Amino acid sequence: MDLLDIAIVGGGPGGATLANIFASRGVKVALIERQKDFSKEFRGEALMPSGKEVLDQIGIDIDTENIKYRTVNKFNIFYKGTLIANPEPDFIENGEFRWVSQPQLLEKIIEKSSDYKNFSFYRGYKGQDLIYENNRVCGVKISGSNEEIDVKARVVIGFDGRSSMVRRKLNFSVKNYHQPSDVLWFKIPYPERAFPGSHAFFSLFPNSMLVCVAVYDEKMQVGWVIPSGSYGELKQQGKEKWIKFIKDKSPKEFSKHLQFCLDKNEISDPFVLKMTLDRVKKWNKQGALLLGDAAHTMNAVGGQGLNIALRDAVVCANYLLPLFKSKKLSNSDLDFAFDQIEKERLIEVKQVQQIQSRPPKFILINKFLIDLIFPIIRFIFKFKIMNRIVDKEWVKISKGFTKAKLEV
Ligand SMILES: Cc1cc2nc3c(=O)[nH]c(=O)nc-3n(C[C@H](O)[C@H](O)[C@H](O)COP(=O)(O)OP(=O)(O)OC[C@H]3O[C@@H](n4cnc5c(N)ncnc54)[C@H](O)[C@@H]3O)c2cc1C
Repeated sequence: MDLLDIAIVGGGPGGATLANIFASRGVKVALIERQKDFSKEFRGEALMPSGKEVLDQIGIDIDTENIKYRTVNKFNIFYKGTLIANPEPDFIENGEFRWVSQPQLLEKIIEKSSDYKNFSFYRGYKGQDLIYENNRVCGVKISGSNEEIDVKARVVIGFDGRSSMVRRKLNFSVKNYHQPSDVLWFKIPYPERAFPGSHAFFSLFPNSMLVCVAVYDEKMQVGWVIPSGSYGELKQQGKEKWIKFIKDKSPKEFSKHLQFCLDKNEISDPFVLKMTLDRVKKWNKQGALLLGDAAHTMNAVGGQGLNIALRDAVVCANYLLPLFKSKKLSNSDLDFAFDQIEKERLIEVKQVQQIQSRPPKFILINKFLIDLIFPIIRFIFKFKIMNRIVDKEWVKISKGFTKAKLEV
């Protein structure tokens, strides 16, 4: 096989977008994705204006392409079943918070990339190991469809998510934010009577919380944040028991809806995911670069991970494309560019991870303290100044903390 310019391990939103940018600009790129069917991989689907901007730049207009999505236009916060706040961030009021089908979005990006002869897609091939030359990564050993292939490339990028093979093989050192929670995910039919329109809400109760979002297919995605390791016990108790626990603490109309879904057997099988939040201390090693969740694993808080991965792709392209165009591809040029990519992205990633590290810890603090804190929070938010401070944070969360514009 010819030497490629770039091999990207992982065809999630970040890897697929980066491959598309390179392919559309004449770089010889291979994208390696272990799943044949994108729906087999569970990932965040919250598309913020900051992520949409990236898709617009690669020619994917989510509003006109045949991709399922639903906008959310109301946001409420409940505590022990009582409404305590209904923030009105601009991006929600303006219908700019979209819940987008990732399998369909990824298929669309691949379809567009396939127009370029210099793009190859290894669908259903798993990156097994790295190939080295002079102690530097120069390719990936992949397997799939009963064959093994050595994909050799000048640059290898690990965009392979939270269980990254590239991170593991190169033994990157990691900063871990301890996350004391797991999330139990399931879907129910959208509770139209309880929340007419298209709502998202948080329902907080001592020691746990629900995150509920209107999603495409007339469904509601429910994430129940629970203390880590507690699912085993819940599972033993059975679905009826833990749904009853949620019901007893939820807003009344929603509670009725949950009972209705239970009776009709319309609650999807739940699955539990460990909340993970970490970051490698340096994003490149021996000529390989990590990006997206492989470099900085995001949890679901604030719906940021998908958007951050897309923005990593843009910044990476801004630095690497000029090198490939000018054929300035010495190891030191590449390593310098890798460092610049990390430096630029770290500003945003650090701020997002700071924000993401707080809620899980907060929820699990002593329940008496929570009972004390919430009335105080409600009181503070009666003052306009507090709302203005929070509004500024919403702008960053929706539009990004830094710029990530495709310049090549
Ligand atoms: C439960 C959960 C809920 C989330 N909710 C949200 C949310 O609401 N909003 C949001 O923005 N973010 C959310 N996130 C985070 C978001 O999903 C990720 O941050 C985002 O998908 C990262 O994109 P990525 O391209 O870096 O990696 P991923 O989307 O993880 O993609 C990595 C890809 O690499 C492939 N891969 C892995 N190993 C190999 C290998 N060895 N060989 C070949 N391919 C491989 C995988 O199959 C996968 O397709 C959530 C994450 C989780 C786990």
